[in-house]
Parts: sequence; structure tokens; C-alpha cells
Amino acid sequence: MRNSAFNILRQGLTGNRGWPRTWRDRTPNRRYDVVIVGGGGHGLATAYYLARRHGLRNIAVLEKGHIGGGNVGRNTTVIRSNYLLPPNTQFYEHSMQLWEGLSQELNYNVMFSQRGQIVTAHSEDQLDSFAHRANVMRANGIEAEILDRAQLRRVLPYLDWSDRQRFPIWGAILQRRAGTARHDAVAWGYARAADRLGVDIIENCEVTGIRLEAGRVTGLDTTRGEIAADRVGLTVAGHTTQLCHMAGITDLPIESHVLQAFVTEPVKPLVHHVVAYGADHFYISQSDKGGLVFGGSLDGYNSFASRGNLGIVREVAEAAIALMPCIAPLRLLRHWGGIMDMTPDASPIISRTPVEGLYLNGGWCYGGFKATPASGVCFAHLLATGEDHPLAAGYRLDRFRTGHLIDEAGAGPFAWLQ
Ligand SMILES: Cc1cc2nc3c(=O)[nH]c(=O)nc-3n(C[C@H](O)[C@H](O)[C@H](O)COP(=O)(O)OP(=O)(O)OC[C@H]3O[C@@H](n4cnc5c(N)ncnc54)[C@H](O)[C@@H]3O)c2cc1C
Repeated sequence: MRNSAFNILRQGLTGNRGWPRTWRDRTPNRRYDVVIVGGGGHGLATAYYLARRHGLRNIAVLEKGHIGGGNVGRNTTVIRSNYLLPPNTQFYEHSMQLWEGLSQELNYNVMFSQRGQIVTAHSEDQLDSFAHRANVMRANGIEAEILDRAQLRRVLPYLDWSDRQRFPIWGAILQRRAGTARHDAVAWGYARAADRLGVDIIENCEVTGIRLEAGRVTGLDTTRGEIAADRVGLTVAGHTTQLCHMAGITDLPIESHVLQAFVTEPVKPLVHHVVAYGADHFYISQSDKGGLVFGGSLDGYNSFASRGNLGIVREVAEAAIALMPCIAPLRLLRHWGGIMDMTPDASPIISRTPVEGLYLNGGWCYGGFKATPASGVCFAHLLATGEDHPLAAGYRLDRFRTGHLIDEAGAGPFAWLQ
């Protein structure tokens, strides 16, 4: 009866005063076994898997704002596993498999929609490189298809197929299992599930300092007091360098940049896949409400401000209209930005740090939403056991010293595919 349509109506008419909280409003304890800093998707997933898979209970997630206020609530939600290099190929495919069962696992509908992702090719060479990628994917047990121009035209008739195209379309690579999910629901689902396993989720609690003794982490200074901790995991996305500075780690190979996204006024169903333009920085999908959600490349300068600039708006609009002239009359409703933690090889970091007891999960660049479940699993494994998860052993911080880079940015024109 509590979830009946009548109850929903009654709650709506009475100011929702009868809704139970989705997670408890906790006052921080003085001490925890593990503290996760950053209540985005990665932090909440890590806390959930620490409790679920490793049986830890004395865990807190500290979030300086509100749950879902960071990049987990600002991204364009593209989920795919069409990576070329190990361990990315296997890691992101594992994440995809976790997405496929996530609503059941969390008992929360994350609205995972496997509508397929299509990347257009604009030369014979580009189509060849896509065929190479598709072969790598298939060799790893991941489905992939190559579409020629005629096949693609049947699937995406609304693209510009005319002779006017500066970069004529040759075909595409398609991953049918790729798609989108509802970003807020992912944050809320992990938060609720972690809370039910006893994790303390503490909002409006900014970490302002990291306490060290003899090279080991002992606790955190926060805007809600000092909190002692045996192990601290950082999952603060674009703020990774700031938090690491607090622990004296000043040479991280990470730069923070703004990435913007855009949404148009709602229209009838038009874009039934996630479509990425292989000739420029532009990708698009359609929300359930009908808005066309799209994005492009990074702002070129370093910034911690969650707002973008008009130059990128113009660039992305130009690319959008070159591929899909039919959307030119639509009005842009809004655009927003989030802070990306960019690594030189465009691959993430799940690692110990030089400070004992301090662990780092970051460097997700513009592709971390899709990684959320696997990132949580692997980081929880590292925090609980002290050992790298086999899928994430390549993501150690020391690869930038040893030269074992995973240069996915240089492995193809895929840096902009989200
Ligand atoms: C416009 C845009 C589009 C994107 N599109 C995609 C996409 O389509 N697909 C994809 O896979 N990825 C995409 N991404 C990237 C993805 O959103 C990020 O890689 C991922 O969300 C980062 O992990 P997170 O969710 O944990 O980060 P966040 O949600 O940002 O979580 C980090 C949290 O740390 C908190 N924090 C920071 N400092 C402190 C402190 N001192 N104390 C306490 N808390 C602190 C922040 O408030 C924040 O809530 C996109 C990003 C943007 C901005």
C-alpha cells in the first residue's frame, strides 16, 4: 500500500512529509576503519562493495556537498566497453557486466538502457581502425559490429548524407550492449544500498586536512570535526590533486579541466542510440523526457570552476550541425560543466600512494561514469585486502614512473567518446 499510486498522490499533496529518508542523516563518529572521501559514484560504490563483498561495517563516506552533486550527477551517462588496450578492454567489459545486473543488485532502478552506441567513420583508414578495434573486442568476448555506409544510412537516416558533407560518412562501429543509465539513480541506489549495510553517509562534510604520523595516515580534518581512520580512500574526481596536496603528494600526473554538456528542448523520439561523430568532438543521445543530450571536447585551460565557456558551445554546435543539420532549429535549454581529472595516458588510477594507509581512485578523465561499478569493486578490494584487484593491477600510480602507460588517448580517435 505504501508504494501505491494513491500514496504517491497523498505524499505529493502533503509536502512529501511522510517519505522515509533514502539514507540516514548521520553525525560522524570519532573513528572509522575506512573513510572514503567523496560521495560521488565511485566513492559510494566503493563503500557498498566494501560492506557487501568484504563484510566491513565501520565505514564512512564524507561528501563536502550533497550526494549526486559532483560529476556523477553532471555527466552524459554513456556506458560502453569498446576499449582497445589491456587492461581497459577487460576492466570496462567487467563494468558493463555489472551494469547489466545493477538494478537487481541494488534493488533500485538505475534505468540502464542498452540502446547501442554508434561511432561514425569518415575515411577508409578510420573504418579500418574501427575494424581493428572490433576484432580486439571480439577476441575479448565483447560483441562489436562494423556497418558500411548503406547499413548505417538505414539505421541513422537523419544524419547528413548529402554531397555537402565536408567529411563524408563511410560507415561506423556499433556496440549494441552500450547505452545510458540514469545518473542520479546510480548515486542514490548505491547510497541507499550502502546505508542499509551500515555505511555512514555524511553530507556537508568537507575534508580540509589529512593527518599523518610517521608517513602513515591517521585521520582527517573536516568541517564537522576531526575523524580518525585506519585507511582513507580518495574518490574526489576533479579535486584529486587538492586532496593529495593535503597529504604532501604534490607531483600527481593529473590536471583538472572543465568538460561541458548540453541539453535541448524536448522533441519526439529521434535519436534511438548513442551516436558519436568520428570527425569532430560531438556525441549525442536522447533523454526519456525528449531532450537531446550532447557534449564535445574539454575546455583547454586548467580550472576548478564547474562552468564552461562560450567558445566550446560554438564548437560543439558546429560539429552537431555538420553531422545532424536537422537539429539546427532546436533551442538549447541549458549547459553545465564538471571538473575532470585528466591523466597523460587517459587511463585511470586505482592505487596505493606513497603515504601508508592512503589509497587513490582517480584520473577517470571524461569516462568514469561507465566505470563506476568496476571501479567500486576494484577499489574496495584494494582497501580491504591491501592487494591490487587483478583487473586493476595496471592502474597503479607507479606506471608513470616505470613507463607502463596505457595510452588509450593515443590508441585511436576515441578520447571524445565519453
Ligand atoms: C559534462 C560531463 C560529461 C561526462 N560524460 C560521461 C559519459 O558520458 N560517460 C562516462 O563514463 N563518464 C562521463 N563523464 C565523466 C564522469 O562523470 C566522471 O569520470 C565520474 O563521474 C567521476 O567519478 P565520481 O562519480 O565519483 O565523481 P564525483 O561525482 O565528482 O564525486 C567526487 C565527489 O567528491 C567530493 N569532494 C571533492 N572534494 C572534497 C572534499 N575536500 N571533501 C569531501 N568531498 C569532496 C565532490 O563534492 C564530489 O561529490 C562526464 C563528465 C562530465 C562533467
